[in-house]
Amino acid sequence: MTQRNALVTGASRGIGKACALALAAAGHRVVLAARDLTKLEEVAAQIREAGGTAFVVKLDLADLDSIPASFKNATDQLGGPIQILVNNAGITKDGLSMRMKRADFETVLDTNLTAAFVAIQQVTPAMLRERWGRIINLSSVVAQAGNAGQSNYVASKAGLIGLTKALAQEIASRNVTVNAVAPGFIETDMTAVLSAEVKERILQGIPMKRMGSAEDVAAAVRFLASEEAGYITGHVLNVNGGMYMS
Ligand code: NAP
Repeated sequence: MTQRNALVTGASRGIGKACALALAAAGHRVVLAARDLTKLEEVAAQIREAGGTAFVVKLDLADLDSIPASFKNATDQLGGPIQILVNNAGITKDGLSMRMKRADFETVLDTNLTAAFVAIQQVTPAMLRERWGRIINLSSVVAQAGNAGQSNYVASKAGLIGLTKALAQEIASRNVTVNAVAPGFIETDMTAVLSAEVKERILQGIPMKRMGSAEDVAAAVRFLASEEAGYITGHVLNVNGGMYMS
């Protein structure tokens, strides 16, 4: 197994935390990035206790101009370039389109989509030089199926799929793969806010009749980051219990 340098955005909790733990368990050196440094340090401690290598970087994706400095901090700590980028962090600001404030549309697009693009621009030059890289973007089942009340979030997640496919074509010849993972209904803080009634309604539409875990999603990310996944690019991997089949 070749040890790689990985960076996971939104690694302080939920799916991003599970991705960071999975990549560290696979032997990679992992940079944990998000806004909450205290929580990131807790995850880093968990990785180090298990014998892994972890670094922590403060990253606010809503502040697009600050992203390059956070990535510089990451490569300084690693002492080398990032070879695996997991664009995981994401937010929601739900509301019906007719009433949605433009600021709420733009904040979600900036944080979920434009920030991922800016992050990609920080890591691709070195990946192209090294002729090895893995970029994994966290999309969502709603990008494929749509979802009323989430036009901003759905647009951002569908945008990530388009970005994944366009970029995959641009850099495939340099042995850098770009893929998306589309989780279904996963048990994290993001879904904890839903009412029991809404959760029950969503569960009815899931053939597996259960919510997914962050670890279910992290396993897919770990695979796409692996050497074995080297001939897979521009793919959208569903991790959704059969909720949507594409
Ligand atoms: P979560 O529990 O709400 O965690 C979100 C993560 O993103 C946190 O680590 C948070 O860290 C980070 N984050 C939020 N705003 C940020 C910002 N401005 N700058 C940097 N980091 C920021 O979400 P999750 O459920 O794990 O979801 C992870 C990803 O999977 C998201 O992209 C989400 O859209 C996608 N997804 C989730 C589900 C689901 O059912 N849960 C389904 C489909 C797709 P800080 O607060 O510390 O910054």
